[in-house]
Amino acid sequence: MGLVVQKYGGSSVADAEGIKRVAKRIVEAKKNGNQVVVVVSAMGDTTDELIDLAEQVSPMPAGREFDMLLTAGERISMALLAMAIKNLGHEAQSFTGSQAGVITDSVHNKARIIDVTPGRIRTALDEGNIAIVAGFQGVSADKKDITTLGRGGSDTTAVALAAALDAEVCEIYTDVDGVFTADPRVVKKARKIDWISFEDMLELASSGSKVLLHRCVEYARRYNIPIHVRSSFSGLKGTWVSSEPIEQGDTKVEQAIISGVAHDTSEAKITVVGVPDKPGEAAAIFRTIADAAINIDMVVQNVSAAATGLTDISFTLPKTEGRKAIDALEKNRPGIGFDSLRYDDQIGKISLVGAGMKTNPGVTAAFFEALSDAGVNIELISTSEIRISVVTRADDVPEAVRAVHSAFGLDSDSDEAVIYGGTGR
Ligand code: ADP
Ligand code: ASP
Ligand code: MG
Repeated sequence: MGLVVQKYGGSSVADAEGIKRVAKRIVEAKKNGNQVVVVVSAMGDTTDELIDLAEQVSPMPAGREFDMLLTAGERISMALLAMAIKNLGHEAQSFTGSQAGVITDSVHNKARIIDVTPGRIRTALDEGNIAIVAGFQGVSADKKDITTLGRGGSDTTAVALAAALDAEVCEIYTDVDGVFTADPRVVKKARKIDWISFEDMLELASSGSKVLLHRCVEYARRYNIPIHVRSSFSGLKGTWVSSEPIEQGDTKVEQAIISGVAHDTSEAKITVVGVPDKPGEAAAIFRTIADAAINIDMVVQNVSAAATGLTDISFTLPKTEGRKAIDALEKNRPGIGFDSLRYDDQIGKISLVGAGMKTNPGVTAAFFEALSDAGVNIELISTSEIRISVVTRADDVPEAVRAVHSAFGLDSDSDEAVIYGGTGR
């Protein structure tokens, strides 16, 4: 008997009808002879609504209480899903992250899983149950407090359980038919990808393709767990994310030169103006940011003006960390020594991803030409071996993504991509 882990995102369980539809799917998997572990997200936009509510009560809620609040969303959906399955005549038990043995560090709002001890899940399965686990949550190893894994963290819960239970596959069910060459909400002509390597998926995910979370892909690569991303609304085959290409008929699916275009409008840019151009300045700025436990993305330092010996340093970071970063830098201004800070949250990032970039000259040139033809101005540039990213005005992002997608011949010549649900929030 095989063991499968299935994860259903919020849009798949947005209302009672959705929960009943998903319950039927789960029961089918069980009837096919599998042991089934299900990871479920909060219903629809519940997590966003809880965040809005918290912000009305307190502008900077304490991490511990914030996590306690957010995990309530997944508790609702896990219990309802278990009820719906029982109503179909099958045994199901729901478990919180803590009960399922998801042990994390104690960094509230973005905890990391450090161990998974799924003893109770094993027992439930051995007793013939379908196990339903609340996604995106765990318990801290030291303080035994409830933690959350960061937005979209249910993907990570699913892969971590799949690894700990030695599952054959981790199926991620969502509101589109798989991973596409761009977000189908922005590019109607985006094409579904049949197979993508962990490496390319990792870059797409960390560049903003929220269909899979970066940490989830990282985890899957480390434990070599194949992921199948597919729609909970259609019966279609989705996208396989794995280390080796899948077979299709007699042939293996080829690695594409360019896998896709990702975009991200969740970041902001901070410019530290008037920094003395001498050793130790960048170190002091980024030590301040690191000590505030903030992750940064791109960094650019301008050439200093000879007359003043001063330079500007810009970097990008999640908008949600903007306030904290500005406060930390202001506090350390006397020690670091700079003139002022500029904060800009109207930026967007566009990234082109593909391992083929390494060996195909001209990709960078064609990328910049596509942006120029679309009249898009570039503010920052960063590259890795298999990715080029630029920062532009947020308003320019949709047009820029479509232009780059077309320029690299990624537009599909068949039907438009289907979006089955969700609000895209
Ligand atoms: P879930 O609630 O199932 O976790 P998410 O909203 O987190 O769903 O992720 C699915 C969404 O990801 C899609 O509706 C789509 O708008 C977005 N998305 C962004 N980039 C891509 C991509 N390259 N392929 C597919 N979906 C993408
Ligand atoms: N409900 C959480 C969120 O909206 C976790 C998840 O859906 O993966 O971010
Ligand atoms: Mg998600």
